[in-house]
Amino acid sequence: FETMTPPLRAAEQGQAPRAIHNMIAGERVEGIATFTKISPVDGSVVAEVHEAGTEQVDRAVAAARAAFDGPWGRMTVAERARLLRGVADAIDRRADELVSAEVGDTGKPETLARDLDVARAAANFRSFADTVSTAGLDSFLTELPDGRRALNYAVRKPLGVVAVIVPWNLPLLLLTWKLAPALATGNTVVIKPSEETPSSATLLAEILAEAGVPAGVVNVVHGFGADSAGEALTTHPGIDGVTFTGESSTGSAIMRAVAPRVRPVSFELGGKNAALVFADADLDAAVAGLARSTYLNTGQVCLCTERIYVQRAVFDDVAAGLAEHAARLRLGRPEQPATTTGPLISQAHRDKVLSYFDLAVAEGATVLAGGGIPTLGDGLDGGSWIEPTLWTGLDNSHRTVREEVFGPVAALIPFDTEEEAIALANDTDYGLAAVTWTTDLTRGHRVAQQMRTGMSWVNTWYLRDLRSPFGGVGLSGIGREGGHHSLEFYTEPTNVCVQL
Ligand code: NAD
Repeated sequence: FETMTPPLRAAEQGQAPRAIHNMIAGERVEGIATFTKISPVDGSVVAEVHEAGTEQVDRAVAAARAAFDGPWGRMTVAERARLLRGVADAIDRRADELVSAEVGDTGKPETLARDLDVARAAANFRSFADTVSTAGLDSFLTELPDGRRALNYAVRKPLGVVAVIVPWNLPLLLLTWKLAPALATGNTVVIKPSEETPSSATLLAEILAEAGVPAGVVNVVHGFGADSAGEALTTHPGIDGVTFTGESSTGSAIMRAVAPRVRPVSFELGGKNAALVFADADLDAAVAGLARSTYLNTGQVCLCTERIYVQRAVFDDVAAGLAEHAARLRLGRPEQPATTTGPLISQAHRDKVLSYFDLAVAEGATVLAGGGIPTLGDGLDGGSWIEPTLWTGLDNSHRTVREEVFGPVAALIPFDTEEEAIALANDTDYGLAAVTWTTDLTRGHRVAQQMRTGMSWVNTWYLRDLRSPFGGVGLSGIGREGGHHSLEFYTEPTNVCVQL
């Protein structure tokens, strides 16, 4: 992995783009081909990435198996926890490089990469070092009707070689959210980062090696999904489990891929998340919160709000306030401190988001803010920029209110009663997150508990305790991550029963 050079400067200086290799058993490994990673900020070339074929994936899985069977598998929990804390410290030390890797691939504001992605990456390692150090075992003193007595207790054992497949929106954060508990519990891994964000995972592999994680424990293969490294990994017979974050349809494909060998899966998938704003809400706080939950990371967070149900008495005020917030967002170069909003990840993703902008108009939407491609000048117009957008005039029957857009856009829809609001929010095939805005304490609890989602916030959004369960229902996923929930996925219990 070569030192990060900001993409524009490399192009300006006429340098060849840097190469990103697969990382297998501690070595940089070439692929069967290379593909070009393009900057979403200005369309410049970020890197040439080595795509792993089946041979490289085989080598990565074999390296992970060998490492699992080696000293790593015999390390004590305390030794592994110490190592994870060392990784967190190394992430802090090399934060600037990680920020630059993340920003180069995604175009997100540097402040966001630093405060969210990289800070959380370190926090993930510390949190799971703590969780694994303090976890207890299930145990039962058993008394049978015939008088026999026994002690039952379950020991946890790692799954083995885990495939970690992650998306591009919060690449380092989502990767470390899986990697930290996988390593804490003694697994070895093969990571397949998104083809859109190869840089931070590759740099992290280097940081892990420096922090003392043995070669082969963490391997990185690059490439695409179907007919590429992703599929080669999920269909590989040497994989003992798959942890995946990404689109619901990809989750289905991975489930089919592992079905013949019946491997455990943990899926964090898409969302079409609702916010409910009651007339008794603190409207300034609600509007500011909605602006954040709709537009953070250019709407490319799985938890982002895309449906906003507002009680009729305050509908116009919320609509006007949120449209004003959307218009105030500053699109610009990631390194400029005033920038609030980056581009979408790619031209292909922008085409998808724009197709929903067109569809919304065809479905009868009124566009209160945005709705198209901005003209930014300053060399940015080769990037995949999009305007923060807001719609009214749609309802739950429209595709734009049912399908995940994954961009900076939400539909505002009025409601009259609490029951109606709950029914509208739950009327979706997804079920990841919801937000309720109200100053009525009991209503907040009552409504939040009735959301058919894995996460339900009241008067806030994306406030996370890493020990709490994270995941979705319906199309939004299978299983929960966080604290002991992660420990359960990454381990298999063996129950021991001793007659007393
Ligand atoms: P994606 O499903 O297209 O890709 C995710 C990863 O899967 C990539 O590494 C990709 O190469 C790989 N992949 C694709 N097809 C594959 C296949 N057939 N076999 C194996 N691997 C395959 O998702 P994306 O576009 O990168 O990310 C955006 C999506 O992720 C959105 O739907 C978003 O809601 C979801 N997401 C969910 C969460 C969550 O925690 N629930 C978090 C972030 C993103």
